[in-house]
Amino acid sequence: LHDYTAVNEPIRDYLPGSTDRERLEKRLSYFSNTCSDVPIVIGDDVYTTSDVRHQVMPFDHQKKLAKFSYADKALIQKAIDVAVKAQRDWERQSYEKRADVFLRAAKLMQEEYRMDLMATTMLGQAKTIIQAEIDSTCELIDFLNFNVMFGHEATKYQPISLGSITNTLSYRGMEGFWASVTPFNFTAIGGNLSSAPAIAGNTVLWKPSDTAVLSNYTVFKIFREAGLPPGVINFVPADGPVFGGAVTSSPHLAGVNFTGSVETFETLWKSISTNLPNFRSFPRMIGECGGKNYHLVHPSADLDSVVNGTIMSAFEFGGQKCSACSRLFLPQSCAQEVIDRLVAIQEEIKVGSPLLVENYLSAVIDDKAFTRIKGYIDHARSSESCEILAGGGYDDSKGYFIQPTIILCKDPNDKLLTEEIFGPVLSIYVYDEKEVADLLTRIDSNTRYGLTGSIYAKDSEVVDSWKDFLRFSAGNMYINDKSTGSVVGQQPFGGARKSGTNDKAGGPHYLLKFMSPLAIKTNS
Ligand code: GLU
Repeated sequence: LHDYTAVNEPIRDYLPGSTDRERLEKRLSYFSNTCSDVPIVIGDDVYTTSDVRHQVMPFDHQKKLAKFSYADKALIQKAIDVAVKAQRDWERQSYEKRADVFLRAAKLMQEEYRMDLMATTMLGQAKTIIQAEIDSTCELIDFLNFNVMFGHEATKYQPISLGSITNTLSYRGMEGFWASVTPFNFTAIGGNLSSAPAIAGNTVLWKPSDTAVLSNYTVFKIFREAGLPPGVINFVPADGPVFGGAVTSSPHLAGVNFTGSVETFETLWKSISTNLPNFRSFPRMIGECGGKNYHLVHPSADLDSVVNGTIMSAFEFGGQKCSACSRLFLPQSCAQEVIDRLVAIQEEIKVGSPLLVENYLSAVIDDKAFTRIKGYIDHARSSESCEILAGGGYDDSKGYFIQPTIILCKDPNDKLLTEEIFGPVLSIYVYDEKEVADLLTRIDSNTRYGLTGSIYAKDSEVVDSWKDFLRFSAGNMYINDKSTGSVVGQQPFGGARKSGTNDKAGGPHYLLKFMSPLAIKTNS
């Protein structure tokens, strides 16, 4: 096996007048004037069904971006059969051969299809240029390159051999198929959750989110163009419960690679548990399920970085990151200053079409999200212990727009401080420095999640003791930095508790999760 190196893909700026910008504008214009057809792809065959759906542009919801259809039970079963059949040949290929496909895909994404990934993500998921660049190109390219490198490094570990006995571990893929169920909020997550099992020697049914179908199909097509054999990844848009029911009742399910809500992950888990005797192997569950992430500020903190980090973490991409800061804890000593500065920035933030550079955030993804987030804002408006300090507006007449909103909560147990909102809503609680012990306990135990958290303090003793106390409150902890923006290869990402199974996407051990090693003892 030869060695691989991976470096993070540099973020481009797409300055007006630049070649990149011109190329991007062309693809934006093409995709926004076309309703693209997205098929179901199983093996080498494409299908459509009569259950037709549309992906719309969240910031202009009358505009249809893509037309697709849901695979029915019979088609999902066909995809399972095709994936199971393709698995042996694919798994027998060398790691290098499999890796080559995805390294080639990463190359195609760097130049040739960069603007397609950008445009479909911007239009379909309402991401601004920088948001789309971080996600659909850089992070996705990084996932492919780093998974190949880390996977190769991880499979170098071998047991000891003694005397005439040679012991080896052969890092096999897993029999059967994986189901990858992927979210709207990162095109990169769709690409990672579908490709990682495949690099490791598995075959996959990829169910994309309805609201990210076009960008995800763009990724899928690049994989195929890069040489991915038919049947290794099958692209299967479908109704969630129908898909979940079909894959969890197949005896060949090897595992589920999931990002989405706690409830859906638990439903899949339950349905697997009721089918246990029927499975050929124990299906492996990998899940990433959200968060209620905090920024905790000490009086010694650098307030510039608190203010800037909090605005970015809470409001970038409309707070639709599992890692977004959703609760900010401020000490009385600096609360007013931080609040004033946050409010002043909020007043400058523009919300609108992701195609206009002056907009910092765009619409939230769909009407369901709009209604949910609006509900939290209405709760703040009607609750005596909450005060809306900035924002609070919403309007879905053209797109699903919600103003970035800052709320002061006086009740530490308010649902704004305990439930995931997944929108541009920041809740602030001002704490009394004499009650830090209670505060830490509440931060740690007032939510079911444990994804990301930030401690802002210059006092290193405080950092050490808070970090220690809060060690199970997050899978990704940040000291003097915001809670979002994990970089592949640098901050392996994943949460504890109900945030997921903490398998650390973008980390050195991720690929091992999709392998089932064979130990061989040879006596010569
Ligand atoms: N990895 C991303 C971050 O650190 C979040 C991914 C997600 O939202 O699931 O911001």
